[in-house]
Amino acid sequence: MPYIEDFLTTKQEEEIVEAIRIAECDTSGEIRVHIEQSCDIDVFERAQDVFHILKMDNTKQLNGVLLYVAVDNKSFVIIGDHGINNAVNTDFWNSTRDKIAIQFKSSNFKQGIIDGVTEAGKVLSKYFPWEHGDRDELDNTISKG
Ligand code: CA
Ligand code: CA
Repeated sequence: MPYIEDFLTTKQEEEIVEAIRIAECDTSGEIRVHIEQSCDIDVFERAQDVFHILKMDNTKQLNGVLLYVAVDNKSFVIIGDHGINNAVNTDFWNSTRDKIAIQFKSSNFKQGIIDGVTEAGKVLSKYFPWEHGDRDELDNTISKG
């Protein structure tokens, strides 16, 4: 996989942020994407750390979803907070992961991330529909580091 700077073009990043914005129009849930160069611990553990570092465990309805990518490890993880995990079963995460993986295998990283965001948005809208007065609790921009 490429260096983190080249992993996505600016335009691709904008498309992902737009996909997050659109997904969040239908749900109170919050979706974030975090990309880093490499991960020297278990990627799932690292994703959980990042979830906490980004304060994603502070949403009102505990309905944050994080798509974490470690470029060198060729790995990604998609995880959700307790609110969403209580609502969906593990099949949802597995099928979403498979959709992302299909695109990543062909190096279509942007499309994989967008597919993951869109799938997460769909399920979030079912269990956590957008409500009047909903706030954008977590920034939609891609975080890196
Ligand atoms: Ca929100
Ligand atoms: Ca947001």
